[in-house]
Amino acid sequence: MDYLPLARVNTVAYCPRRFYLEYILGELYANHHVIEGQYLHERAYTEPDELSGLWVWSDRLGLVGVVDRLEWRKGEALVVEYKVGRASEEAYLSDAVQLAAQALCLLESRGIEAKRGFVYYHKSHVRREVAFTEALFAAVEKAVARMRTLLGSSRPPGVEVPPAKCGGCSVREACQPELWRKGVAGWV
Ligand code: SF4
Repeated sequence: MDYLPLARVNTVAYCPRRFYLEYILGELYANHHVIEGQYLHERAYTEPDELSGLWVWSDRLGLVGVVDRLEWRKGEALVVEYKVGRASEEAYLSDAVQLAAQALCLLESRGIEAKRGFVYYHKSHVRREVAFTEALFAAVEKAVARMRTLLGSSRPPGVEVPPAKCGGCSVREACQPELWRKGVAGWV
């Protein structure tokens, strides 16, 4: 089984069409969200009792990737993911699913169990707690299954997300979601 990048769990959970365009067709453009994200991950700092950039993987799921930061608080392991954007009241679902995928990989590859974690939103300078529930782990399994289905598909999926998700999308030009929503014949 081929190993997939753990971070792509976020992409497919956000928008399956984006996953197909970016990962399978290679339509990866560096808009300001992408560049800011790379810079933020490079600048992530750690305290002495923390780890950053820890490689983790799951042979069962076929995922490999990096935990941005692993913190220890009173003996409890916490995974932390950095995001460029602004926070909402709760972590965005795609971010929470990515974090839960990191927790599954951390347990399988390093034997470290994390029951919760945080997504840090750089523009708001806040972090949102994510509890790793069975429902969230099920969402990880579903996202990975969708990735593998899409890898076997010869065409990208249609637009499945509301327009609000498309505003800052780095593959919007290739996607042309408005054409799709207008039902333009033959548009991929
Ligand atoms: S523009 Fe919208 S529908 Fe198209 S890939 Fe991006 S998020 Fe998905």
